[in-house]
Amino acid sequence: MDRLWPSGARIDERGELWLGGCAASGLAQSYGTPLYVFDEATLRETARAYNRALARFYPAGAATAYAAKAYLATALAQLLAQEGLDLDVVSGGELHVALQAGYPPGRIHFHGNNKTPQELAQALNAGIGCIVVDNLAELDWLEALLLGHEGHPVRLWLRLAPGIEAHTHAHIQTGQADTKFGLSIATGDAARAVARIARSPHLLLAGLHAHIGSQIFETAPLAAAAARLVAFAAEMAGRHGLFLQELSPGGGWAVPMTAADPDAPIDTYVEAVASAVVSACRAHNLPLPRLVLEPGRSLVARAGVALYRVGSRKEIAGVRTYVAVDGGMADNIRPALYGASYTAALVGDATGRDLETVTIAGRYCESGDILVRDINLPRLGIGDLLAVPMAGAYTLAMASNYNLAPRPAAVLVNKGRTRLLQRRESYLDLAQRDVPLDWPAVASGRLRFAKYQALGNDYIVLDPIDFPDPPEPSFVKRLCDRHLGIGADGLIWGPSADREPFALRLYNPDGSEPGKSGNGLRIFARYLWDRALPARPDFAIQAAGGQVTAHILNEDAGAIALDMGQLSFRSPAIPAGGLEREVVDETIEVGGRPFVITAAGMGNPHCVVFLDDISPELARALGPEIERLPLFPERTNVQFAHVIDRHALRIEIWERGAGYTLASGTSSCAAAGAAIRTGRCASPVTVRMPGGQMAVEVTPDWFVRLTGAVAPVCTGELSRSLIPPAAGSPAPRSAL
Ligand code: PLP
Repeated sequence: MDRLWPSGARIDERGELWLGGCAASGLAQSYGTPLYVFDEATLRETARAYNRALARFYPAGAATAYAAKAYLATALAQLLAQEGLDLDVVSGGELHVALQAGYPPGRIHFHGNNKTPQELAQALNAGIGCIVVDNLAELDWLEALLLGHEGHPVRLWLRLAPGIEAHTHAHIQTGQADTKFGLSIATGDAARAVARIARSPHLLLAGLHAHIGSQIFETAPLAAAAARLVAFAAEMAGRHGLFLQELSPGGGWAVPMTAADPDAPIDTYVEAVASAVVSACRAHNLPLPRLVLEPGRSLVARAGVALYRVGSRKEIAGVRTYVAVDGGMADNIRPALYGASYTAALVGDATGRDLETVTIAGRYCESGDILVRDINLPRLGIGDLLAVPMAGAYTLAMASNYNLAPRPAAVLVNKGRTRLLQRRESYLDLAQRDVPLDWPAVASGRLRFAKYQALGNDYIVLDPIDFPDPPEPSFVKRLCDRHLGIGADGLIWGPSADREPFALRLYNPDGSEPGKSGNGLRIFARYLWDRALPARPDFAIQAAGGQVTAHILNEDAGAIALDMGQLSFRSPAIPAGGLEREVVDETIEVGGRPFVITAAGMGNPHCVVFLDDISPELARALGPEIERLPLFPERTNVQFAHVIDRHALRIEIWERGAGYTLASGTSSCAAAGAAIRTGRCASPVTVRMPGGQMAVEVTPDWFVRLTGAVAPVCTGELSRSLIPPAAGSPAPRSAL
């Protein structure tokens, strides 16, 4: 495809658009629309193209610093850090995300024309590479913050306003005399700042910086700005002994947005700026500083493609045809903000469709919410998928919740694989910051529950949004009762906080609380995912029996893995009575018959009985007896296990507090672990139960991961008559 699309993008004979080896229609199906798709190969290639060009055209040290304002997400920062890029941030928020992503602080530069003292302190505490001072007041703040500071002086760059105009839209011009950015060379502010820093024991002027605007196709103003910085450095070297270590002529290089735009090769830009710096340094007899370029747009724009679904058409005969899509100015404000031009393509079969000229409108309540004006496309119908290329820069980064639109998801594609960069916002996200007039009344207005099942175990989920207090055992018993309540194998109350580790209370149907439950915790993981609370597909859950990590393995969250923690066969960890030992292949007696058992603890006690012949009847008959043996002071869960082969077991389960059950996660872990410990099986072990099967992997030091399916059953509202009165929580707290 042409230069407007990510590298490797193609349209096949059926009109399908392929991005990073993934079908765009499949991505839209899985993640919904609007969707921002970022092509990993294009991101990496572009980063490398910058580094290669600097190495080729600049004969001294150099770096590419990505201007994060164009778009920042944790995984993107990590990817660019891998490519050896520096990072330019402009706010405490961007700095926070960069640090969270593990970006090396020394490679971060902090820009901004009005940094708050808190942001400056945040940057100083993090020990970032340099702070780019924009005005004299910022120097006052820095000196105040550094009063009494010992150790190395803090490295600064000065942002200068070089008085050079770039030919671009007025809103993205920044280098001219009349600008809010930077210290003016012409007024003498820039020189005053240099003098102040030279006098300060806490500050070191390491570099000079300018950024004259964005979407600039001509190299001349960019080269002139770089040369102007060198000339100023030479003047300051004479007056204040400035030694220029680094020089950053900003970013601003353009990208073609439509077929009408010229090419903008990265080499052309880098060569022009690099040679301007080399000649200016030569002319002023200065050693070459480290050259730092700060591309934003030109690094990420082409990697990003926005996908929208057509929702309606409006034909005004003789005037215009509007085709409205399910996004617009809330995810891409650039056309409305400064008349940016985009193009679009139909994803799908165009055969038999006439070309027509249409205007692609957004869905937001502004007449200016137009994405593309007067574009020729095959006739679009409702439900068609539309792709907008060159959508990676200043789109999601500027996205808003106008009309309370949830911001779209972003995915990274590469070699046929997808990875969520940012999940779509949920309605819950939208309301989360709001403080209602009467919170308890609102919170308890509804008594919602959800029900899920995992391998034949069903759990009710009560959310603290509706049930602020953990339920009493009698209430749990009632709800789990299949005749009097909803009916379930257990109940979950949580999450009690909306961030990691997500904590829950797990209940057996008799109201008792197990430490862990493989199915219950996977169900909880799925519930959290469905509520869009976890920021990424791997997240921590805090259960009474310890912390586990959940891994959402596929896009519809149908399969979930849990790192369950460590199994132990030692008697105190189970717990099992008697002298301290490993409870492995011990003989017990039940009803006069000897049985060989292996016991294991993993938040819960488990007792595994290996037999050649197992059945539900056997579990029901022997389970209660073994559960109550004096050997198990806290009672135990019991698994009757039949070894099928080295990697497969069949089990029947008797659960402490629940009785005969069709499937259990911790039971699978215990049975697989016991089979491995006694040499009967080797990891991984598929554990088959009447309710379904689970894959159990066990490391040599007994850490266990189990994987299995989870599915929602239903959601509903409880009748108020089920709620225990007054004292018994969770009584409604409202005035209702
Ligand atoms: N550096 C600075 C200081 C900026 O303000 C900007 C953008 O506004 C950039 C770099 C990146 O510009 P662009 O995305 O046009 O490359």
